Amino acid sequence: MNIVLLGAPGAGKGTQAARIIEAYGVAHISTGDILRASVAAGTPLGLEAKRYMDAGELVPDSVVIGLVKARLLEDDTKNGFILDGFPRTTAQAEALDNELEALGRSIEAAIAITVDPEVIVGRLTSRRTCRACGRITNASEGSVCTACGGELYQRDDDNETTVRNRLSVYEKSTAPLIDYYRGRGVLHVIDGDRPVDDVWADVRAVLEA
Ligand code: AMP
Repeated sequence: MNIVLLGAPGAGKGTQAARIIEAYGVAHISTGDILRASVAAGTPLGLEAKRYMDAGELVPDSVVIGLVKARLLEDDTKNGFILDGFPRTTAQAEALDNELEALGRSIEAAIAITVDPEVIVGRLTSRRTCRACGRITNASEGSVCTACGGELYQRDDDNETTVRNRLSVYEKSTAPLIDYYRGRGVLHVIDGDRPVDDVWADVRAVLEA
């Protein structure tokens, strides 16, 4: 099962990806997570990526395409993978198709999670992530993860100015991918402005159809 998750930042891709991984045992490929790990490790790639990320801009295609190509060669992707936050441009989608074709694989489902932009601004500016277990939660939980006791932190790019820029970058560069995958006959659109369990029920229905 090879899946692409589409949707604006804050649409709930990461939350649904976590459930898909747990339920189906597929590999998680989140370019945002890979880039944040490079930033934290202080690698040259991380240093280059950070200035784009802090501004809410896209990291250049050549950089992220290279990361995903390398990741697709890892063994755990053989039983399927979920791409979360990639592709974000038509050039990335085309590069992905070419790479998968060379590997004898293809995308079986592209799930687009849609949420009103103003709802997203509210969600992202109050989003918190656990440093220890990676769980995504909300500022109302305070500063300690109720699941593992780890520290909850706010991502550098979850401030309102950067969030609004990320949303406009999404509209311009990434939203056209909805038509790209519709054209390939693999698109499923799910309303993400509902409780997580309701969205998950629809995601599961798509994956088990
Ligand atoms: P995310 O965690 O998916 O919201 O990604 C955080 C930031 O990482 C984005 O705002 C971009 O700066 C960068 N990024 C993640 N994935 C990509 C991608 N596929 N193409 C370009 N930049 C990306």
